[in-house]
Parts: sequence; structure tokens; C-alpha cells
Amino acid sequence: MNIYDMTYKKFCDFFAENNEKPSRAEAVMTSLYREGADSLEKLSVSEKIKAMLSEDFHFPSLECIDISDGETAVKYLFRLADGNLVETVLMRHEYGGSVCVSTQAGCNMGCKFCRSGRLKKIRNLTAGEIVQQVLFVKKHTPSLTGISVMGIGEPLDNFDNVMDFVDIMLYPKGLSFAPRKITVSTCGLVPEIERLTAEHFPCNLAVSLHAPNDILRSDLMPVNKAYPLPVLMKAVKDFSKKLNKRVALEYVMIKDVNDSVVNAAELAELIGDSNLYVNIIRYNSSEGDIYECPDFEQIMRFYDVLKKNDISVTMRRELGSSVNAACGQLRSDYINNGN
Ligand code: SF4
Repeated sequence: MNIYDMTYKKFCDFFAENNEKPSRAEAVMTSLYREGADSLEKLSVSEKIKAMLSEDFHFPSLECIDISDGETAVKYLFRLADGNLVETVLMRHEYGGSVCVSTQAGCNMGCKFCRSGRLKKIRNLTAGEIVQQVLFVKKHTPSLTGISVMGIGEPLDNFDNVMDFVDIMLYPKGLSFAPRKITVSTCGLVPEIERLTAEHFPCNLAVSLHAPNDILRSDLMPVNKAYPLPVLMKAVKDFSKKLNKRVALEYVMIKDVNDSVVNAAELAELIGDSNLYVNIIRYNSSEGDIYECPDFEQIMRFYDVLKKNDISVTMRRELGSSVNAACGQLRSDYINNGN
């Protein structure tokens, strides 16, 4: 088993089952995540514990096969132990870096505007494979301050592994990320959002909305047919209210598709007086795309309607466009190039 799949609690259970003090778990987690031990030999534990761990765990490789370095973002393409490819993006901010990790090889959600959606899901990533993406990037960017679970894949379609990943990132004697620095995104899987609410999820939630009415959203995002907007918005507002958190609604602006002032008014009405806010993202088009990004004036018209309706709006800096970092683009380019 991948040693990075293990949460603190799972290590405690492992040691208890092996008639060892559960407190050994703390030493292993600290050595892995605070000291950065990346092999059994480097773990700061006794030879007896190493021998015990070696029976069940290994340190699998995460091979970086391509790096695209842009001004504001770096995109890494990784080959997993079974040959599947995933990508990870480091976004550079003035105050440090944040990393965007993938959770599945491919994705079954089929969002029309997403290149990852054209590569069907092959499998879920384990918690450890998601952890390893962070560890790799952190090695090159010690000032890593935030994590977005928004890369290839639908995170809540890989619920248990993503929750284990979050747990490992939060472990106080390990990497010790603050809950507010981790954001998990979803395209709108309502039962899983309800589960996050019931389980008092400590981190942030972002919902990829991208359309303000059911006709348009079902056309762009097939998940909307299963969980239409009234059902989705209720679940998101419940999450926000019960956990007292602001939730981001991600909105990719696509020219002549979802960028009209009527769409903005519809979006404002959907949000109402809830604690949700809109994060406008400019569509990052690349060769062969059927969609384009609207011009700046149109984006501002959309923005103004939201503001006039007292909706909080942020506009994501165009991080990543220089390295073709809309989700799935590097991986699909790599495959299309016959690699
Ligand atoms: S936008 Fe996200 S959920 Fe939709 S197809 Fe792409 S990776 Fe999957």
C-alpha cells in the first residue's frame, strides 16, 4: 500500500493491530510530512517500526514527465505507477503559491467546455496519489500556502479518498494546512454536498456553476440533469448556513453562451441574500475549442449587474493561461501528440 494513503487515524489503527502504541503514528506522520522523509530509510523511527512498516507499505514513485513554466503558473504532468497521467498546477501569487491537484485519471462528468471531460474516467486517485502531487510541488515551492482540489476529475466522485487527503493535509504535526486554505470544488453532486454538511466539513467549498438556469446548465453540464439548480442551490445554501461558511460559485465566462446581462440577473436571483459569492473566470480557450472568452467590456457588464444586486463578486486573475492550464489541457495535448 502507498504509505501516503495513510491518515493519522489509520496509522493509529495499524499500530494498535500490531500491538504497538498508537502514538507511533505521530512519529511517522511527523517524519513523513514535517521532515519530508521520502524513503523507509529516512523515517525517524526505530528499526523495529521500519521493519513493521516495510511489510505493508511502500513509497511509490510519482514521475514528473513534463513541466510547463509560465509567468504566473507552472503545470506539472505526472505519470502514476500504473502509467496513468495526471496534472497539477502551481499558481504563483504575491504572497506565495497555491497548488491545484487532480483527483481522478480522466473525468466522467462531461462538462462541454472542459477538455478533461473528453478523457473518460479511468480510475480514482488514491489519497496518497493526491498527497504526492502536493509533496512534489512543495519541494520546489516551500512557500506553498493553499490547496485547491480542482484539477482533473470530480473530487466528490472520489469522496473517501479526497476526505483522507484533506485529513492528511490538515494533520497538525505534519503539513498542518489551515482549513481555510483548502478548497474542494464540485460540479454539483448534491448527496455528497449534503454529506459534507452533515460531517461538518472544515474546509472551503466551491461549486462550478457556470450557468444560471437549468436549460443552459443542463446543456453545458450533464450533471445538472441529475441535480438541477433548485436542488443544488438548496444543498449549497444549507452547507453555507449550517457551517457558517461563504461558498464560491465558479462561473466561467463563455462568449454568447452564459455572459449576457440577463444571465447575470438570473444568477443574482439564484443567490438572493445567501452567503454565496461569484468567482468570475475568463474562459481559457485554446486551439480547436468551440468556445471563446467574451471581451472585457462584456465581462464588466455582467459584473456590474451582479454588483448592483449586492452580490459579492471576485474575478480570478488569469493564472495558468500561459501554460494552457485549464483543466485537462496539458494531459490531453500530451496524448494527442502521440506520447
Ligand atoms: S469541469 Fe471538472 S467536473 Fe467537469 S468534466 Fe472537467 S474535470 Fe470533470
